[in-house]
Amino acid sequence: MRINSKQLLSKGAKALTLALALGVTNNAVAGLNIFACEPEYAALAKELAPDAKIYSATTAMQDPHQVQARPSLIAKMRQADLAICAGADLEVGWLPMLQMKSANAKVRSTDQGLFFAAEQIDTLDQLESVDRSMGDVHAKGNPHLHFDPNRLLDVATALTAKLVQLDPDNKAQYQSSLVSFSERWQAAIPHWEAKAQALQGSKVIAYHSSFKYLFNWLGLEQVADLEPKPGIPPSSSHLASLLNRAKQGDILAIVIASYQSERGADWLAERSDLPVLVLPMSVGGNDQSVDLFTLYDSAIALLLSAKQ
Ligand SMILES: [Zn+2]
Repeated sequence: MRINSKQLLSKGAKALTLALALGVTNNAVAGLNIFACEPEYAALAKELAPDAKIYSATTAMQDPHQVQARPSLIAKMRQADLAICAGADLEVGWLPMLQMKSANAKVRSTDQGLFFAAEQIDTLDQLESVDRSMGDVHAKGNPHLHFDPNRLLDVATALTAKLVQLDPDNKAQYQSSLVSFSERWQAAIPHWEAKAQALQGSKVIAYHSSFKYLFNWLGLEQVADLEPKPGIPPSSSHLASLLNRAKQGDILAIVIASYQSERGADWLAERSDLPVLVLPMSVGGNDQSVDLFTLYDSAIALLLSAKQ
């Protein structure tokens, strides 16, 4: 069935009439309007604020470092009550532009409706000093933190406090959503850890520091990076050095994220006889990853597949 904008309008009018008739406030019916910079935070918002209207600015097939501040994104940000982003400068190339062009005072500051996940936890690999020769490094530490289940739980708790701040009428609901999520998440962590036991001590070559938290948590070691420097695609001389490294014979696999180019990885795989694992960078990064739980399931299953 195709619904045109006129029909939608009349539907909206009916809902409003109904809401008024029931004596409920518009706020409680509509819920918050949430803009997530990345799909993992849209997924977390869905767990913690199931009645909210949630929009993800990017998909798991997009590089979250490089996003065009398109008019459609500006329009979405203009409507937002809350913007949830990884932070630690991951979105520094596009979020400030969206904020400026959308001119939405609600999401301008973290005192109000702007929330950075990285500000709620200690990031890995923070740098004391940075210069341009180092490439596009993450000086404030690695922002790809959603693959650390414990840090993500801390983010969930902080995000719930933010939801309550912005929408205090629904405090009880947000708190019970957090309890439900925490219980399921904390029950899942030991299962994941038990499953991934066989991966302890495994060495991988990976693209960027995308899965640093996952490796750190599960005891894998990224011994080399397909990027010669952060933000720089693999060059032939760099790939040649990786091939030399691979010849030592102790590497489990080459790991890339769903949005990253397979070219360098394939070149190396052909010559080193190593498997290439394409891990979902986020929810939606493959067919299996439909929420945060299945995202973790899938990433761990893919890593284990290289063990067989
Ligand atoms: Zn990065």
